[in-house]
Amino acid sequence: MSSPLRRPLLAGNWKMNLTLAQSVDLARAVKDAAASASGEVAVCVPFTAIAAVAEVLRGSPVKLGAQDLYWEASGAYTGEISAGMLTDAGCQMAILGHSERRKLFSESDEWVNKKLGAALKAGLTPIVCIGETLEERETQKTWRVLETQIAGGLKGFAPADLSKLVVAYEPVWAIGTGKTATPAQAQEAHLFVRAQLAKLHGEGFASSVRVLYGGSVTAENVDSLMAQADVDGALVGGASLKKDAFLRIMGFRELKAA
Ligand code: PEP
Repeated sequence: MSSPLRRPLLAGNWKMNLTLAQSVDLARAVKDAAASASGEVAVCVPFTAIAAVAEVLRGSPVKLGAQDLYWEASGAYTGEISAGMLTDAGCQMAILGHSERRKLFSESDEWVNKKLGAALKAGLTPIVCIGETLEERETQKTWRVLETQIAGGLKGFAPADLSKLVVAYEPVWAIGTGKTATPAQAQEAHLFVRAQLAKLHGEGFASSVRVLYGGSVTAENVDSLMAQADVDGALVGGASLKKDAFLRIMGFRELKAA
């Protein structure tokens, strides 16, 4: 079980899915189950659903997130959405640097760093995603990749700026593949991530940052992942679209030590 300093966060990433009506239905179900959740709950929805889901979640503890943002405040950036537009529409969080954006849209650590600056300035809780590909894992580059992504993504910020920071360790080989990292693999990587955070800003900072695991989290494996000392929550893709599965993930159970 993670430190009591860090409240577990169960965040759904709906990706490019659901109609408005489906979004509203799913958000209602999440809201209705929030009181019995085992931690803080968030849904990161497509831009088009933000306003409607914000209306559903009004007055509930469920946080609303976007899946990306652009770092400029306004202007001639056709197709982009700023951090200020997200807060105006009702968001409190934003996923940054998801591996799908890094791979499909060539997002670099430098871009993630600029997006992080904009998110923090707007008061959003950033969920910064990092993780290695299968090839990188198989060629023993995992630690180098994580170190580079953390250093590049968080460059130039003081610990006080990063008080809301959430990091999501998402091994690319586990995202949407049904191949979950074992609890031991997740714990090993999370411990490494925390050591990198300590290297940047000290132990106190590192022990305050929530590090989520993402990659084929399901109703069946969430308890054993959440039992790891440095796993402070989950970023959930596919299973967050299935009401029963996500509600079970929200209500993960603490496994007792054997
Ligand atoms: C994700 O989208 O961040 C993710 C982890 O997806 P999935 O749970 O489907 O692997």
